[in-house]
Amino acid sequence: MKLENIRTRFAPSPTGLLHFGNANTALFNWLVARAHGGAVTLRIEDTDTERSTRDFERKIMDDLAWLGIDWDEGPDKGGAFGPYRQSERTHIYREQIDKLLTSGAAYRCYCSREQLEQDRARQQENKESFQYVGRCRDLTPDDWARLDAEGKPFVVRLRKPAGNAVTVHDMIRGDIVFEADAIDDFIFVRSNGEPTFLLTNAVDDSLMQITHVVRGEDHISNTPKQILILNALGLPVPQYMHTAIILGKDKTKLSKRHGAVNVSQFREQGFVAPAMVNYLAFLGWNPKDEREFFSLEELKNNYSIEAMSKNPSIFDYDRLRYLNQHWIAHTDPERILDLVIDFLIKAELVTPQSAQDNRAWIRDIVAIMGDRLKTINDIEELGDYFFKDFDDYHPKGVKKYFKESTPEHLELIERTLSELDPFTQEGVDAALHRIMEEHELPPAKVIHPLRLALTGKIFGPGLFELAALLGKEKAVERIRKAAQWISDNNPS
Ligand code: GLU
Ligand code: ZN
Repeated sequence: MKLENIRTRFAPSPTGLLHFGNANTALFNWLVARAHGGAVTLRIEDTDTERSTRDFERKIMDDLAWLGIDWDEGPDKGGAFGPYRQSERTHIYREQIDKLLTSGAAYRCYCSREQLEQDRARQQENKESFQYVGRCRDLTPDDWARLDAEGKPFVVRLRKPAGNAVTVHDMIRGDIVFEADAIDDFIFVRSNGEPTFLLTNAVDDSLMQITHVVRGEDHISNTPKQILILNALGLPVPQYMHTAIILGKDKTKLSKRHGAVNVSQFREQGFVAPAMVNYLAFLGWNPKDEREFFSLEELKNNYSIEAMSKNPSIFDYDRLRYLNQHWIAHTDPERILDLVIDFLIKAELVTPQSAQDNRAWIRDIVAIMGDRLKTINDIEELGDYFFKDFDDYHPKGVKKYFKESTPEHLELIERTLSELDPFTQEGVDAALHRIMEEHELPPAKVIHPLRLALTGKIFGPGLFELAALLGKEKAVERIRKAAQWISDNNPS
């Protein structure tokens, strides 16, 4: 395997947001190149003019940049092999199509839909495979002129070389042989004159001097056809790597039914880029040892094509959360704080102004969450009580901890805490222990009801720390309110 001067490319169609599976192949293109000092090209495959938009193009680029996947050549960067948008390369395709028609490697097919349907029906009856019957194979340019004059539309088909099987040398799967009769004279220019993906994608890979095409295994059946096109044009054929398909836990192809599928959705759900990259890499690759945490840089330094797997990967949301938890804890805290604040603003738990004024306080809140944050957005579930009052107490907690005697204990705590000055974690700790000792109360009768009173929840960060961060005024107010609530609601 030649691993010098590697050129890979990522070739998204800007007809939607960056899909998780596409991000997976983008990452492997990046890794194959970067692990060997090679170059990455971004090519925008916007031939579907109806569905492609510049907005999607920009969003795909943003998502790639967010992941840390960069490129050397592309529509935004230029490069020696541009233009990098297929919509700007139609003259190039025209030229290659003409070459194929002139050499006889391709021919025009004027068959009507009815004719093709009849062919198909007959093939079905005879239990034959559905293949083009070759009716237009031997039409001459004179015939074309006559049919053109009649106003008949045509498509362009590749004249498949007789008898040859096509072998795809896949870098993960080894040789995949497509028998001669598995491929027919396929269409690569539609009746509206537009070339299909088979041509544009193959021609661009070759003309852009891409050495390694890394893409999903759903493209395997396209590859022999693209090799035939490049052979017919006398253009170099790149190496191919078809990465493993990603399945949901139910073993069906990953789709919207399984939850988030676009990179931006994960981002909105509070996943951080290093976790995404770490997770994406393990869908198709692994280091063959116990290590599980890899930054993009570490992936680059540890990546090897030999360690790629062809077995389907199963998308495991819990695993992603686990990695996210690790990466949140191992990312620069100021960066995490920024993300938390962005989220709090979006969730309307703070305003931009209050976030700015209370940045140090929010930093402390994030700090006491420790490694409890599995996503940035968990701050809401774990700490919303810092930012807003609440009326509900966790029902299980109410049942377990709000007893008939609890208001009395809470009033005791309230009295002590309202006199505490300064209102620090250590102070709260000492004060509560004093109460427990003096009144011979077991910790469970103090700690649990107090947590429920202050937060409405039964789990969370250390009680003394959170009480101190909540502040004396809020803490006292909530204790009073809980005591009242218990009396009003007659708990058992
Ligand atoms: N535009 C194609 C896609 O998004 C590119 C496939 C390829 O990488 O060859 O599926
Ligand atoms: Zn025909």
